[in-house]
Amino acid sequence: MDLGLAGKWALVCAASKGLGRGCAEALVREGVNVTITARGEEALQATAAALRALNPAVQVRAVAGDITTPEGRAQALAACPQVDILVNNAGGPPPGDFRSWDREAWIAALDANMLTPIELIKATVDGMAERGFGRVVNITSGAVKAPIDVLGLSNGARSGLTGFVAGLARQSRLAGRNVTLNNLLPGAFDTDRLRKTMQAGAAKSGLAAEEMADRRRQAIPAQRFGSAEEFGAICAFMCSAHAGYLTGQNILLDGGAYPGTF
Ligand code: NAD
Repeated sequence: MDLGLAGKWALVCAASKGLGRGCAEALVREGVNVTITARGEEALQATAAALRALNPAVQVRAVAGDITTPEGRAQALAACPQVDILVNNAGGPPPGDFRSWDREAWIAALDANMLTPIELIKATVDGMAERGFGRVVNITSGAVKAPIDVLGLSNGARSGLTGFVAGLARQSRLAGRNVTLNNLLPGAFDTDRLRKTMQAGAAKSGLAAEEMADRRRQAIPAQRFGSAEEFGAICAFMCSAHAGYLTGQNILLDGGAYPGTF
């Protein structure tokens, strides 16, 4: 299927590794020019080189910086001639007990996982509407549907973003101009983040890391973790010319782990 995206420009945030990188790769394969961001210059440039090798016909720009800061966002936006596709992503907040989180911890989580995507949406959607095409995909978490106790900062901040996007996506000045906003909710995906979380969990429980990973896999009906590549493929479809009637939705990718009917 031709996704109808060749020649578009995408800003893919936090994309040197993991799910963000998976989204950038899938878009580049479809002929989309990308601006990718991440904090660490070295990994970012290596990913940019890999993306150029994947499709030499596209332009790939790499901007090192913290997307959760106003400067990081301004630099990322300045490097993208126009944003037709915005993939919002950033690192997730740390786990813990809410009794130990002060106002600063909450503000940091809200900044990273709620206000940063909202600022980037604000900077880009009206231009998308003027041009008659726009796609926003926010990488959130399965924790929005089924909260994870120790990830209270994530549950809270991402639910705030989800509620905001649900309202905005239904503005006819956006939906009526072929601008869609959706959230993509990862369950367990085989990335650095998942490996680090499992190592921390294993150290705490006294289990070997591989034993911990096996138990986690067995609890997923698909019996495996997802890959960044398959995450990226769904993201690219949500950005495609065919997905113009899909807006304000939360698409859960979790190998069947969420037990509910809806
Ligand atoms: P990852 O650690 O593998 O990759 C994160 C990427 O984001 C890296 O490229 C890193 O450089 C970049 N990054 C982090 N903070 C940044 C910032 N402030 N500014 C710019 N770049 C930044 O993580 P991942 O597994 O790909 O996770 C991506 C998002 O999805 C996270 O918010 C995570 O909490 C969430 N998530 C992941 C899973 C999973 O199983 N992997 C499950 C649920 C939710």
